[in-house]
Amino acid sequence: MCQELHEGLAWSTVPRYTFASPADSEEKDAKFAEEYLKKYYNLKAEGSHHSRMKISSPFTQKISEMQSFFGLEVTGKLDAETVEMMQLPRCGVSDVGEFSTFPGKPLWKSKDLTYRIVNYTPDMTKEDVDTAIEKAFKVWSDVTPLTFRRIFDTVADIEISFAEKVHNDFYPFDGQHGTLAHAFGPGNNIGGDAHFDEDETWTPGSNGYNLFLVAAHEFGHSLGLSHSSDANALMYPTYHYTDPKQFKLPQDDVNGIQSLYGAKQRPVEPTQPSTPSTCQNITFSAATTFRGEMLFFDEQKFWRKIPENTEVENHLIKTFWPSLPTGIQAAYEYLESDSVLLFKGAKYWVLSGYEVSKDSPKSIYLLGFSKTVKKVDAAVHDQETGKTYFFVEDTYWSYDEEKKRMDSDSPKKISVGFPGVGNKINAAFQTNGLLYLFNGHRQYEFSTEKKRVTRTLKYTSWLNC
Ligand SMILES: [Zn+2]
Ligand SMILES: [Zn+2]
Repeated sequence: MCQELHEGLAWSTVPRYTFASPADSEEKDAKFAEEYLKKYYNLKAEGSHHSRMKISSPFTQKISEMQSFFGLEVTGKLDAETVEMMQLPRCGVSDVGEFSTFPGKPLWKSKDLTYRIVNYTPDMTKEDVDTAIEKAFKVWSDVTPLTFRRIFDTVADIEISFAEKVHNDFYPFDGQHGTLAHAFGPGNNIGGDAHFDEDETWTPGSNGYNLFLVAAHEFGHSLGLSHSSDANALMYPTYHYTDPKQFKLPQDDVNGIQSLYGAKQRPVEPTQPSTPSTCQNITFSAATTFRGEMLFFDEQKFWRKIPENTEVENHLIKTFWPSLPTGIQAAYEYLESDSVLLFKGAKYWVLSGYEVSKDSPKSIYLLGFSKTVKKVDAAVHDQETGKTYFFVEDTYWSYDEEKKRMDSDSPKKISVGFPGVGNKINAAFQTNGLLYLFNGHRQYEFSTEKKRVTRTLKYTSWLNC
C-alpha cells in the first residue's frame, strides 16, 4: 500500500537498514521509531521502553497516530511498512501540534512579505539557488494575495539559511537524509524562517534533493500551513520528486493556503512600482549587466530584466539597497571580481555580489580621474579589450582593470573612440560582446572590434515594451 502511495519517491536516496539479527534489528527499529515519534509526533521521553510495549502505552498510541496520518493500517505495532515509511526523507516539522516557539496559530498580518537568502549552499550555483527560492515563493503568490519581495541587507520576514546539525534553534539537523529542512510558522524573530540541512545534497534537478520542491513545501509552513495527510499534497511530510517544470500546486494546498489568506484578487494591486504599460518618456541615467541580468536606472528606480522572464521588474533603489543613494549616474559590472560599481558625483559604491561593500562609497579620484571631473555620465567594461570606459561629457576615459590604472592617453573625444554615437553618453552596458550606448532618446549598438555602430535600436528595446 505504501509502495503504491509513494510511487516516484526518491527511494534510491533512502538509507536502508542492514539486518544483523532479528533481535538486533528489532531493537534498532524501536530505537529509531522512538526518535521519530519524539520528533514528529510529540512523543514524550519516558526512558527505555523499546522492546516490550504495554497495550496503549504512549509509544503504541503514537505509532497508531502516525499510521493513521500516513494512511497505513493502524496496528499500533512497528511493522515493516511503518518502519519503511519512517525512513523516508522528510520535512523536520512535526505532523502534530505546533512547530514554533510561540503559542496559537499565527498568520502574517501583512500580505506583502520580505525574504532574504542569508547564505548559500555550495552544492548549487547562487543563481540556481536564487531561482529555486524565487520560484518556490511564486507557488504561493500565484494563488493568494501574498507578495514576496527579496531584500538583501536588513532582516526579512522570512530568513532562509543552510545549516547543519545544531544551528541556533531547538531543532538540530541529523546529517544526511532523514530530516531535510524545516520552517517556522508566521511570527517575529525566528517566525517564518526556513532552514535547509546542509548535510543534504541540494540540486536544481532530480539527483539529491530538489531545492525548489523542498523550499516550496517549507514556505507553506512559513505561511502557517501544517502537514497534510493527502499523499498528493505539497504539504505531505515526505519528500517526493516531481519535475519542477511540470509542478502545479495541488488542490489540497490551494485550499489550505486560501483558507488562511484568501484567493488572489484580480487585477492585482501593485505593491511596488510596476512595469509601465507604455515606455514613453523613459530615460536611463545608468545601465549595467548584473549576474546575467540587466539593470537600468533612473532617478529613484531601476528596471530589472531577468533573461528567462518576459516581464521586466521595476523596483525602488532604496528598497533593494537601502544604503545606496538615488540618482545613480553610471554603473558597470566587472565580472572578474563579481562586482558592480555604481557612480554618483565624485563617489562610487561597490556591490559585491548583492551586498553593498562596507568600504563604500569611495572617491572616483582613486581610479585616476583628474580633479576637473566632477561626475561620470556612463561606464561600461569591455570584456573584449579588458578596458573600462568612463564617459565624461564629450570625452571618455579608458581604465585598465588589470593594471588598475587609467590609460595615459585618457581622456579622448567620444567622437574619436566611438564614432557615430554622438557627443554624450547617458548609460552604457555590454552584452554578447557588443556595447549598447544610450544618448538622448537613442540607443546604439557598437562593436569595439569593428569600431563602428552596428545597429541603432529603440531606446527601450530591453524593456519589452
Ligand atoms: Zn513540512
Ligand atoms: Zn533550524
